[in-house]
Amino acid sequence: MGVIGVFGCKNAAELVYYGLHALQHRGQEGCGICTTDGTDFYRERGEGLVTEIFNEKKLAKLKGEYAIGHVRYSSSNGNNNNSGLDNVQPFLFRHHTGDFSMAHNGNLVNSRQLKMSLESQGSIFQSSSDTEILAHLIKMNRRKDRIDAIGEALTMIEGAYAFLILTQDKLYVCRDKNGLRPISVGKLNGGYIVSSETCAFEAIGATFVRDVGPGEMVIFEKGKDPESILFTEEYSHNMCAMELIYFARPDSEIEGFNVHTFRKNSGKYLAKLAPVEADLVIGVPDSSISGAIGYAEESGIPYEIGLIKNKYIGRTFIQPSQELREKGVRLKLSPVRSLITGKRVVLLDDSIVRGTTCKHIVKMLKDAGAKEVHVRICCPPMRHPCFYGVDTSTYEELISSKFNVEEVRKMIEADTLFYLPEEYLLKGGNRTELCLACYNGKYPTHLYQSKPDFNIEKKF
Ligand code: 5GP
Ligand code: SF4
Ligand code: MG
Repeated sequence: MGVIGVFGCKNAAELVYYGLHALQHRGQEGCGICTTDGTDFYRERGEGLVTEIFNEKKLAKLKGEYAIGHVRYSSSNGNNNNSGLDNVQPFLFRHHTGDFSMAHNGNLVNSRQLKMSLESQGSIFQSSSDTEILAHLIKMNRRKDRIDAIGEALTMIEGAYAFLILTQDKLYVCRDKNGLRPISVGKLNGGYIVSSETCAFEAIGATFVRDVGPGEMVIFEKGKDPESILFTEEYSHNMCAMELIYFARPDSEIEGFNVHTFRKNSGKYLAKLAPVEADLVIGVPDSSISGAIGYAEESGIPYEIGLIKNKYIGRTFIQPSQELREKGVRLKLSPVRSLITGKRVVLLDDSIVRGTTCKHIVKMLKDAGAKEVHVRICCPPMRHPCFYGVDTSTYEELISSKFNVEEVRKMIEADTLFYLPEEYLLKGGNRTELCLACYNGKYPTHLYQSKPDFNIEKKF
């Protein structure tokens, strides 16, 4: 999921609209924009791509210089009861003390407990989204000071989040204390832009100012300089490794590091750690192109565009059922047969989750005449579910929680298979901390309702 906010810029909705296009890779299930002109709120949202939901007429209705926007895919537990229009953000809350709108990227791990407690105190929820929980927590707090009320509510929620809260005259931007989800601040014509990824700044001509830190809330207020508070003193820099490996666009800078450079480094390490005699290196588009370039550069084996992606089909993973996912892979990628026939191929991919994609691509390359296919994965085996907003919530669906590397190699029918060890993820991004829980099971938060199934874990 991705969020973007604009504060104090003319045609704020239009800027958010362009920004959402730049964040479209983060979610294709639904999107929305909410604006305010300081008096009223205006909102448009729908299920589908940014181009499908918005047009000039709709954008013209979104008045004001303040706006937030969101792109989504359903994540929580892979179930479908949180898809549908009711769950498309931004949310808009009407309250006698002042209306406000919210958008959120991430997932809370204690939402069930909080929801039960709030419902027993009289709250009624409209959706199954975590965003609404934070809204209720803020409003349950009778303190006059909004900042204190939000700060206190943030200390009660646990998980991964970048929250945008838009009131008639302020924009609050909050990041979880472990920094699991990134969010950056940029500047444009005297106003401010915040975005899940810096690629949106480029798209709308804004300049990067800085990242919001873990446990930080930045408050933008009309006529004032932005204010920053730490709502907790216990913070860490456990940003989600998958942001660098898979989610983000290569032109984004995350926490001071370019995503393409990070992925290229991973490819170079893979070439050093797992060299192989081969004729060409190819990457699975789009996320593994940078890694393949790195592998080629380090090994001296030529890089080739061996797979062509149909740009007009969404990410396979985002399709709700396994059957649709499998069909999706076939429509999405095609091999460049004349390049591949008779060749020994090194294939770079970002990650293996269920194994469907990789198995299919290896088969596709072999069917196109590849003599050998050597698979290099730009992260370690994913053995543990993610509870922080990524759609891998059970051990059952993770191929590497049930099978070891050699078994997976056989299942995907690769000639060799090698995964990048986790220390190289830290090294490749020049950092000392990252969330690596889906590889090593060391979750940076308590898990509450999201506790994994320990029976399955014991198999390891
Ligand atoms: P699978 O192994 O489940 O068939 O597919 C894994 C591929 O799905 C990855 O290579 C990646 O490109 C893509 N993908 C889409 N969404 C996600 C996600 O949330 N996490 C991971 N790790 N990969 C994802
Ligand atoms: Fe990202 Fe994995 Fe951590 Fe989830 S568990 S936040 S996917 S690194
Ligand atoms: Mg992929």
